[in-house]
Amino acid sequence: MNLDVVYKKRVEIKDLDGLVKELKAIAGEQWVSTEEADLVAYSKDAMLITNRWVIEKKVPGLPHVVVWPEDEDQVSKIVKVAAGRKIPVIPYGEGSGVVGAAIPVYGGITVDMKRLDKVIDVNDTDLTVIVQTGINGKALERILKEKGYLIGHVPQSFHTASVGGWIAHRAAGQFSTKYGKIEDILMSMRVVMADGSIVDTKLYPRASNGPQLERLFLSSEGTLGIVTRATLKLWPWPERQEGVAYAFTSWGQALETVRLVLRQQIYPAVVRIYDQIETERHFYNEPKAKGKLMTVFVCEGKAKLVDLELATVREEAAKQAGIDCGQDPVHHWFETRFDVKETSTWTPKDVVFDTVEVSCMWKDAAALYDNVVAEMKKVPGMAMSSAHASHFYPQGVCFYFTFGGVSTGKLSPDDFFNAAWDAAMVGTLKSNGSISHHHGIGIVRARWMKPEHGPVLELMKRVKRALDPDNIMNPGKLYEEAEK
Ligand SMILES: Cc1cc2nc3c(=O)[nH]c(=O)nc-3n(C[C@H](O)[C@H](O)[C@H](O)COP(=O)(O)OP(=O)(O)OC[C@H]3O[C@@H](n4cnc5c(N)ncnc54)[C@H](O)[C@@H]3O)c2cc1C
Repeated sequence: MNLDVVYKKRVEIKDLDGLVKELKAIAGEQWVSTEEADLVAYSKDAMLITNRWVIEKKVPGLPHVVVWPEDEDQVSKIVKVAAGRKIPVIPYGEGSGVVGAAIPVYGGITVDMKRLDKVIDVNDTDLTVIVQTGINGKALERILKEKGYLIGHVPQSFHTASVGGWIAHRAAGQFSTKYGKIEDILMSMRVVMADGSIVDTKLYPRASNGPQLERLFLSSEGTLGIVTRATLKLWPWPERQEGVAYAFTSWGQALETVRLVLRQQIYPAVVRIYDQIETERHFYNEPKAKGKLMTVFVCEGKAKLVDLELATVREEAAKQAGIDCGQDPVHHWFETRFDVKETSTWTPKDVVFDTVEVSCMWKDAAALYDNVVAEMKKVPGMAMSSAHASHFYPQGVCFYFTFGGVSTGKLSPDDFFNAAWDAAMVGTLKSNGSISHHHGIGIVRARWMKPEHGPVLELMKRVKRALDPDNIMNPGKLYEEAEK
């Protein structure tokens, strides 16, 4: 095997044959692979620049072996073997993460969780569902819908992401303004720790019983343990769903409409505000939105509540001179909300692009948008920088930026990519924003952990050292920068 691996810190594994034999004894012959095709398949996630590396015949990182365990007992035994040999373990959901968190920068054992895909229990009285965390988001929705429920977590990567990946990246779905983000939906979990032991956290609606350590696993990106089971909140399938769309002349008017709606404790499930560039890109069919910011609201739940929510949205939009665009933009949003196919055509044409989601308090919202766009425009070769506001709180907002360009002069495509990311992070931190709202840190944002957290990063490292003293769980992420 003679592959050009980008992250060159791959550890030496003594007695790889012996390791593979042990893993096969645990998971079964057919569920352990060192085949080149499998190692390459698990060399990356959906971090966008890695698609370019693949075209350049480069492999981001390379595991030594891939294992597909069947249950948490096998996961525990696999981690015990890794702990005994001090070998990296990389949990892998569906590889839809966009920051490189599942890339095995030190090699090791990639543990694909897809076979842990069962719904264990649905409890109508408590409104909870217990699942194995390898289950796919869409598959879970289908099962729950048949029984008359939903969890309300619908990320754009719904068809290609697992519950474990949602927890590990503290994900946010499109309907999150009503149902909450994954941290609001998650109630308890089972975790295989770095020594292979299994820990269950207790299920309760709320408790005052000491620090809530299980919250550590949210956004831990596989660095503290493997989450094998989760109890999630359920809701009855909504009685009614209806949307409205308004076009606004300025960010100020659009943001103010949403802020004032939420201030009244009215929570439309979906709220999206697109800047002029993205309105042109996504809603070119709507003449009333030409040169304006399209804003889409979807309300759902009990019919009477939906009436109230829609009435409040209409009232506040009218106060901000919003132009009623009717239902068509809402239908268009539903039809195209999972469609990202245009992006796969850009990399082969040498366009370097990515998306950057960040959050800030309301008072900083207008400045953050302006600062990030201004910083990104300074990068030589930048052709496009735009955003929509995608998630909202009574206290603040998440902006989702997209940049695209072609590297010029002495800048390589990787240099352009890094410069664009640095620009977005500088613009965000200058505006008191947080460097990631829901995609996570992975490799892409690792160098911005110190400016983001300051001394708190050292506290995180102490927790990591306490729970994983030999640094076997997904090393090279969150607390250190993966060097090429
Ligand atoms: C087109 C597109 C749209 C997207 N839209 C959204 C969106 O709307 N909202 C959003 O939040 N994200 C979105 N994402 C990002 C991505 O889908 C999420 O980060 C998702 O949660 C990752 O899940 P996964 O199962 O694919 O995880 P993976 O990519 O396989 O892994 C991600 C991280 O989680 C760890 N991990 C995986 N499973 C476990 C486990 N069981 N225990 C411990 N650690 C684990 C891995 O080690 C890795 O660090 C999008 C991505 C794409 C490509």
